[in-house]
Amino acid sequence: MRLKYKIAVLPGDGIGVEIVPEAVKALEAISLRFGHQFEFTEALVGGAAYDAVGHPLPEETLALCKSSDAVLLGAIGGPQYDELPVSLRPEIGALLPLRKELALFANLRPCMLFPGLLQASTIKEEVIKGVDIMVIRELTGGLYFGNKSREKTPQGGQIATDVLSYSTHEIERIVRLAYEVAGKRRKQLCSVDKANVLESSRLWRETVSAMEKEYPDIKTTHMYVDNCSMQLIRDPRQFDVIVTENMFGDILTDEASMLTGSIGMLPSASIGGDVGLYEPSHGSAPDIAGQNIANPLATILSAAMLLRYSFNLDQEAELIEKAVTRALEEGCRTSDLLACSDPSGQPVKVLGTREMGDIIAQKIMQL
Ligand code: NAD
Repeated sequence: MRLKYKIAVLPGDGIGVEIVPEAVKALEAISLRFGHQFEFTEALVGGAAYDAVGHPLPEETLALCKSSDAVLLGAIGGPQYDELPVSLRPEIGALLPLRKELALFANLRPCMLFPGLLQASTIKEEVIKGVDIMVIRELTGGLYFGNKSREKTPQGGQIATDVLSYSTHEIERIVRLAYEVAGKRRKQLCSVDKANVLESSRLWRETVSAMEKEYPDIKTTHMYVDNCSMQLIRDPRQFDVIVTENMFGDILTDEASMLTGSIGMLPSASIGGDVGLYEPSHGSAPDIAGQNIANPLATILSAAMLLRYSFNLDQEAELIEKAVTRALEEGCRTSDLLACSDPSGQPVKVLGTREMGDIIAQKIMQL
């Protein structure tokens, strides 16, 4: 097994500079415990990069990402950058080109319920207890990337058109990746489409059906997107891995993430090319930046995804997840999680960003 890995570290803006060091701390604990060598190289991205060198994605940063084995990103953006020309705004000028340059066609968002956080959900405990879903969204095709146009009508109105197209190749590569992820989990894949109405969905379903035979150990099902949005609320435990196209995935990932509560707990992975990008699902939270109160767990859990999906280090990834679970079981909370404290009367320890990172690193060494 390979022991040396290069990780590009891009803290970005706002709370990004506070939460990323805590994820690095967790990875350092893993390297100590397992004897891996992680070489971390930090670079500027987003507003911080714009302030320093005039562009949110400097060439050196892109080159570093491309030459690394994985990228760990904090968050980018802030109100001070909202009025910049579109191409220089952090998300459009950095995040989208980064995804494109790294060929990240798959976005993975796990939806897991941690003990002690049952109250964070608006859904009844008996419905969500034990939920553990991975939603895989196609990230570079479909409606968002199709041709867009506007035409004037003779009546003085307008017609707006967005083209939704998918090729067999685009469908196959995301579905294959989803099968691989399902193979590492509970071996169930639900493909979500709208094949009763859309031609692109009919090709999607035909393609998945043709691939099914290659994965006999995985149970494949198909579901219409409207039904899926309902089933996620009605009985989310029926799902293991969900794979779907770009726009359906955009909507379903947000719905699924809210099943389990706080935004500070939600990791994500964008993969597909040679280098994966791992980041929390939330933004730079300028309202709480610089106060040592941001929840670092989404970023720490993103680091676990980095180990699992970029380095194939499953045992190490599980240890990070176990450390987070244990800390929450013991009542460790950042302030955003206070509203979700267990009403059973378990005492709660309110921790700052750094203190939560310290506890997780300690648990990684001890568990
Ligand atoms: P946000 O996710 O930054 O914050 C929403 C709310 O959640 C805020 O009240 C914030 O304090 C809270 N929150 C977020 N993360 C938290 C954490 N780890 N711990 C505790 N509380 C947390 O969304 P926003 O306020 O709409 O956006 C702020 C900036 O972030 C904007 O510039 C936006 O464009 C950018 N943004 C960046 C990304 C990204 O980098 N991928 C994603 C979303 C938004």
